[in-house]
Amino acid sequence: MNNAQPALLEVKDLVKHYPVRSGVLRRRVGTVHAVDGVSFSLGAGETLGLVGESGCGKSTVARSVLRLVEPTSGQIAVDGADITHLGKAALRPVRRSMQIVFQDPFASLNPRMRAGDIVGEPLAVHGLASGEQRQARVAELFQQVGLRPDQMRNFPHQFSGGQRQRICIARALALSPRLIVCDEPVSALDVSIQAQVINLLIDLQRRHGLSYLFIAHDLAVVAHISHRVAVMYLGRMVEIAGKDELFRNPRHPYTRALLASVPLPDPRQKQPPPLVDGDVPSPVNPPTGCAFHTRCRFAMAQCKTERPVLRDVGARHQVACLLNGGAGL
Ligand code: ADP
Ligand code: MG
Repeated sequence: MNNAQPALLEVKDLVKHYPVRSGVLRRRVGTVHAVDGVSFSLGAGETLGLVGESGCGKSTVARSVLRLVEPTSGQIAVDGADITHLGKAALRPVRRSMQIVFQDPFASLNPRMRAGDIVGEPLAVHGLASGEQRQARVAELFQQVGLRPDQMRNFPHQFSGGQRQRICIARALALSPRLIVCDEPVSALDVSIQAQVINLLIDLQRRHGLSYLFIAHDLAVVAHISHRVAVMYLGRMVEIAGKDELFRNPRHPYTRALLASVPLPDPRQKQPPPLVDGDVPSPVNPPTGCAFHTRCRFAMAQCKTERPVLRDVGARHQVACLLNGGAGL
């Protein structure tokens, strides 16, 4: 590995715990295990899909990577340089190279600003372009995301949901980042619009060599855009593999359950019965051992006590399951 290029992004053993406080004295009565030891890497020009049910810690991972929340422990490296504890000034150039697109494009756009000013704002903040030069760059960004430059004068409410997300993507592109964290960027959009926005992201990736950490709560959404897919459950990574490998040969019972809930392309095919029961347990007191054992139909006695770690089960395929890496299922 010595001569190998460091990954663009390398996350090691990331932990983020939030205190739960109660009473007048706001005494700490518990801990939310939002993210509980997550590791992954992301190469240049690569898309890693991150999936898992709501509340499993996906947004916390996204925000920790960008240092928008302070990790409790663990390490985040960009180009091999540890950025976990960088101060504000040292973080500034790193911040330019990593941008985020959120789920709700309306909430993340200032309703009183014109679309062109919203997209040009990062250029102004970083002092990179002003006057006509900035206008020209913004017009170019509008075109790149499929909007017309004359729409720069409009306000957010004059755009459709899909167009508003295009504005957010244009703003994220303004500083020519290398990584864009997409936190459920299409979850709030109509299904017919979702594919258009995903295709735009794929097109932009080809053009600019961008890397994406692409978050969604279902596998169908990440399937098209991802090169590799990571599955999270209750703050932990349970499986990570190349997309085709994951879809063809899912090993973790939870991944299989997620796949079983993806609609089949042929409606005449019989949909298998759901593989998990009940809701996700609370991350305040996550189950001992394997966090999934309370919903797993294959759980053995040791799954209640022993916490599985990610193990290699094939080429770039890792699974955290005590049942022979899921192979015995
Ligand atoms: P996801 O994006 O997968 O839905 P999140 O990362 O938003 O999950 O949240 C993971 C867990 O952490 C949830 O139980 C959530 O309630 C909790 N959480 C997130 N942010 C905070 C916070 N600022 N304070 C306390 N708990 C939080
Ligand atoms: Mg989220």
